[in-house]
Amino acid sequence: MIWEAYQQRKIVGAEHAAERAERKTENLGDEVRRLGRQVDRLSLACQAMWELLRDHSELEEGHIEAKILEIDLRDGNADGRMTAQVMPCWSCGRNTNSRRDLCVMCGAPLSKPHVFEG
Ligand SMILES: [Zn+2]
Repeated sequence: MIWEAYQQRKIVGAEHAAERAERKTENLGDEVRRLGRQVDRLSLACQAMWELLRDHSELEEGHIEAKILEIDLRDGNADGRMTAQVMPCWSCGRNTNSRRDLCVMCGAPLSKPHVFEG
């Protein structure tokens, strides 16, 4: 009898844990879909900006491809991403991460090497 009550409590606890995990999974799925829509919108905006620039200047496809590669290689890897870079803090001189807004060591506000870096 005591064993059965113990087992029943364990089962109820496991059911609640499964329900929480299911809700968490649903929330993460919603977030992934939201981010996907945001990436689609940003891609569309980037394409529109590029086409406006190309159509109103002497720039051609090769120029943007070369610039994309140049920016990609700034972190030493041609991986199609702008990854964080280690850079010295302008205030204290210690190394900091380019993705941070403030220096972890001294709290100085940090500028980002790329305007669109997150
Ligand atoms: Zn600092």
